[in-house]
Amino acid sequence: MEYIEKYPILEINLNKIYQNTNYVVNLCKEKDIAVAGVVKGLNAQIEVVKKMVEGGCKYIASSRIEQLINIRENKIKNENMLIRMPMTREIEDVVKYIDISLNSEIETINKIEEECKKQNKEHKVILMMDLGDLREGIFDENEFINTSLYIENNLKYVKLYGVGTNLSCYGSIKPSYENLNKLCDVATKIETIIGRELDIISGGATTTLPLIIENNIPKKINNLRIGEAILLGRDLIDYWGYDLDEINKDTLILKAEIIELKNKPSYPIGEMFIDAFGNKPTYEDMGVRKRAILGVGKQDFVFHDSLIPLDEGIKIVGSSSDHLIIDIQNSNKDFKVGDVVNFGMFYANALYLTSSNYVNNKYVY
Ligand SMILES: *Cc1c(COP(=O)(O)O)cnc(C)c1O
Repeated sequence: MEYIEKYPILEINLNKIYQNTNYVVNLCKEKDIAVAGVVKGLNAQIEVVKKMVEGGCKYIASSRIEQLINIRENKIKNENMLIRMPMTREIEDVVKYIDISLNSEIETINKIEEECKKQNKEHKVILMMDLGDLREGIFDENEFINTSLYIENNLKYVKLYGVGTNLSCYGSIKPSYENLNKLCDVATKIETIIGRELDIISGGATTTLPLIIENNIPKKINNLRIGEAILLGRDLIDYWGYDLDEINKDTLILKAEIIELKNKPSYPIGEMFIDAFGNKPTYEDMGVRKRAILGVGKQDFVFHDSLIPLDEGIKIVGSSSDHLIIDIQNSNKDFKVGDVVNFGMFYANALYLTSSNYVNNKYVY
């Protein structure tokens, strides 16, 4: 039987993801920084995880424990890192399947200790410090130091493996030499008191990479948790102005099929009320335009604004749950119903597209 490709397709270029991993790992290596490859952005697809391992990621990290368990079950041996603080009801699995977890609550850490005792197993903890982004972490320096000393001195199975921070997530705070150096100073204070070096000083995510490029990262930082720069590589150029030629920005392509192709007015007709999601969008009257409807929608990509048409002369007009409308008036291509249109994307789209049951993932090399 002839194999029929079903659209929408998310084309994932594994070789490009491997190259990105390799580039990021080497960039970090110059500063003695080990990389935890963060796999949550592409729903921890095993093929992708394998490329991140081949490319040199020391640890494999995710905020979703289910993803890390699945990776273990697929015989990927790297130490894993749970980068969202464990929920109380996850603790049994954390001890069973996770090597290292990021933590900020002493109650949770005590529960991990109890569970470790039950399972007769050790567990490594990275204590998170909040440097002002105001998502996770202990904000007060004394509380932070006291908590780390508590783990070091009072717990037998939970090991204080290191300290870390997270930036540019909630509070959109930029990593800087100054804020990361504060983490390093506190780490040094802790090391002096406990009389040994911490294994990990984890200085953030993709948004910390510019500090490496600028040669302005505190020497003590020895770990970063990187997802976006490896999986997509778009943020550094589009938000930070760093065009790293070596990073492929076309790792992912969304391919969607044209299901209607007509000339239509660009300004809706009748009394304007609300759209399918209760919003009141504004419309520009550009007269009659040639436009296409594609069989993919918000349920798959959520935001159409961050999709990037890869053909000249195509403009995204709007979307609803299951439809994406594009203006093709200025395109030189002679599109027909059934033709396929290609899009690049940003992180959020990749996150949703790889979680949609209606999008077929296709690996290319
Ligand atoms: C998602 C996440 C990362 C990875 O962020 P990227 O921007 O994809 O590099 C790192 N650390 C934590 C705690 C995260 O939640």
